[in-house]
Amino acid sequence: MSFKCRVCDSVNMEPVIDLGIQPWCNDFLTPEQVGKEPSYPLNVVYCHQCTTAQLDYTVPKEVMFGDHTYLSGITKSLSDHFKKMAIEANDRFCENKDEKSVLDIGSNDGTQLQHYKKLGFDILGVESSVGTATIANERGLKTINAFYNLETAKEMGKKFDIINASGVFFHLEELHSVVKAVKFNLNEDGVLIVQFLYMKSIVENCAFDQIYHEHLLYYSLKTLKTLLNRHGLDIFDAYLAPIHGGSVMAFVSHTESNRPKTERYQAMVQEEEECDFNSIKTYKDFNRRIQAMKQENLAFLRSRKAEGKKIFGLGAPVKGNTMLNFFGVNTDLLDCLTEKNKLRDGLYSPGMHIPIVMEDEHLVHPDVYYVLAWNFKKEILKNNQNLIDQGIEFFFPVDPEEL
Ligand SMILES: [Zn+2]
Repeated sequence: MSFKCRVCDSVNMEPVIDLGIQPWCNDFLTPEQVGKEPSYPLNVVYCHQCTTAQLDYTVPKEVMFGDHTYLSGITKSLSDHFKKMAIEANDRFCENKDEKSVLDIGSNDGTQLQHYKKLGFDILGVESSVGTATIANERGLKTINAFYNLETAKEMGKKFDIINASGVFFHLEELHSVVKAVKFNLNEDGVLIVQFLYMKSIVENCAFDQIYHEHLLYYSLKTLKTLLNRHGLDIFDAYLAPIHGGSVMAFVSHTESNRPKTERYQAMVQEEEECDFNSIKTYKDFNRRIQAMKQENLAFLRSRKAEGKKIFGLGAPVKGNTMLNFFGVNTDLLDCLTEKNKLRDGLYSPGMHIPIVMEDEHLVHPDVYYVLAWNFKKEILKNNQNLIDQGIEFFFPVDPEEL
């Protein structure tokens, strides 16, 4: 196999999870586009050299990030999380600074920047989607419409006290250029805050729907550290946050700044070592559990259908398409997907072509909701208690205990 590791350049790679040929999962379709969407391989490979799990195929970034329909302002729990993060960054790293600045990479509609702005930060966002960057600028949240890389960083020509990268480090085609850019843009005593889906949580929860073309890399603390160390950056603190069903917040500084490593970070690293998480065995076991989950989910949906029940998908998250397409769950099983994001109104899911309807517009509830937006379990159960009391079933294909 000639594919080179995205982190360490090794060619010693082994395929571990094959999710088949899938359309790009963020490409929700208009009626005219149905059936014409292109598809790409979705395989996870493991690097025997640095142990990073990653996709071996890259959908071109212009296809992936030109016009995405994900708006981070949409859910309350995400916005609350962003607010908490801005306050934490301010209190821990900028309290005594008269002037403080933040750069948000992949800043989306500016939800995160807005919280920093309220705390008195000089703010700047970089967002690759034209539509989303425009929304942010209209809200008065200064945003450059570009792909963030070393070139963009040099054009800015500026250093920041805080650089925020929420959920971007795994969908960067120009990975090394981006890390070099951070090195360039980070103040001497600055802190990079990386939020990433923690592969250990993904594996523990069997949340394989987090595997999709946008996510090129699946990090543990060990593998993220390997990447950062190559460019003179190092992790000094980390903890697990419940957002997106299990994310790590990692705090990173220049290696030469020698910040002391926190106990909780060292404990997490030790835990990875003790359970031998970064071994190929982890991924082979994970693959077996994904196959079993497919059989169990199909059996559940088919049995409810056989009882004459009506089933809707709850939510049309991007990740849901990985699951629907891999399981082969189409309109024979799900009548529609109910969704809040108005940008997806009237569109169809890529691959399975399930129609999307707005949550507040469909009047008759089904007998069963198959919850694709499982990471908002708490919010969903709370908002739908009256339906649960009426006997409507909410099935969570991924059901992490801590959510
Ligand atoms: Zn590697």
